[in-house]
Amino acid sequence: AETWDVVPLAPPDSIFKLTAAYQADTFPQKINLGVGAYRDDDSKPWVLPVVKKASYILLSDPTLNHEYLPITGLPEFVSAAARLILGHDSPAIADDRVVSVQTISGTGANHLGALFLSRYYPFNGDKVVYLSDPTWVNHFAIFENVGIKQRLYPYYDPKTIGLDFDGFIATLRSAPERSVFLLHACAHNPTGVDPTVEQWKTIAGVFLAKKHYAFFDSAYQGFASGDLDRDATAVRYFVSNGVPLLVCQSFAKNAGLYGERVGALHIIVPNKETAGRVRSQLSVLQRSEISNPPSYGARVVALILKNPELFEEWKADIRTMAGRIIDMRKQLHGVLTKELRTPGNWDHIINQIGMFSFTGVSTTQSKALVEEAHVYMTANGRISMAGLNSKNLRYFAEALDRVVR
Ligand code: PMP
Repeated sequence: AETWDVVPLAPPDSIFKLTAAYQADTFPQKINLGVGAYRDDDSKPWVLPVVKKASYILLSDPTLNHEYLPITGLPEFVSAAARLILGHDSPAIADDRVVSVQTISGTGANHLGALFLSRYYPFNGDKVVYLSDPTWVNHFAIFENVGIKQRLYPYYDPKTIGLDFDGFIATLRSAPERSVFLLHACAHNPTGVDPTVEQWKTIAGVFLAKKHYAFFDSAYQGFASGDLDRDATAVRYFVSNGVPLLVCQSFAKNAGLYGERVGALHIIVPNKETAGRVRSQLSVLQRSEISNPPSYGARVVALILKNPELFEEWKADIRTMAGRIIDMRKQLHGVLTKELRTPGNWDHIINQIGMFSFTGVSTTQSKALVEEAHVYMTANGRISMAGLNSKNLRYFAEALDRVVR
């Protein structure tokens, strides 16, 4: 027998498989609505002008070197990142009870957060995390990797193509006390369906009553509404009401730094003394996995966050991205409902938020879109709004119209 006989062949990642099929397709009007990355009106990746500017500033600094960062990351990056998500006036920051660690983007933050919980969270029985049904598929593997079982809580209601708020609340109420629930801070992936502010308040109330732990995943701050503060509303509300929580933060989407892997994990704890102990153990975990995080992207982001002029430019760049996506939602909705008179209700297209939209089309219909119309999308009916632009929107709307008739 050969040494690796026991290794079974794993199926390819569905999104990467979709991208490969798109690239191999020679049809001129093909559209890629699978990938979760921003594209400009010419379907091209967009380097944010503010990121370009910050890069120039960095690279022209003669004192810049390539020494190791501290284990917990670039200090000015992690502290500015904490203020960005928690707010400048955050009571937790003022009390010195936020533990922030730089991570390998949002994925790394999810991993480190999950690993820390797996080691130290006082689970009520089995190690379990409740994930929204549906959720970002990688959540399952990330928790599986650290020995935490996954359960689903009702979230998306196919009947309304909206939030199953009652089902969500009922599960929060019936779960054992001190359960861990993963929440998407804003722009839920894959559905684009977020609770309203009022609903978030009710959710926070149940967390407090049941002493649940909130594992916030914030991968799209700024991308939902175009406003960084507004997209942090839920996280800040939970913190100010004393719900125990952590936040996984990614700069992949809002700074267009996908490949640079810039992110942070923030754990809010009751006091400064606890913060010291938690920080020490996170450092131990981080040391064994990556020793210390990469410096380039963190330096770019730190510069943008700390320089008021660059920060304003960044906010404008974010508005450009979020604005284009919101505009595509409006246009798609308009063409479907007013021009093509496509059967069904399409209001969810404008009610959903962020990069993704659950269209409500069936597996058979999305398959038909891929195979007959060369529109590449995942089988669950999710489309990336960022893949639409002024040139391909009409083609997509007509193809969608055909498959649902
Ligand atoms: N969480 C969610 C919900 C996401 O959609 C993503 C990006 N697909 C991530 C985390 C992590 O992305 P990254 O590691 O690129 O920051």
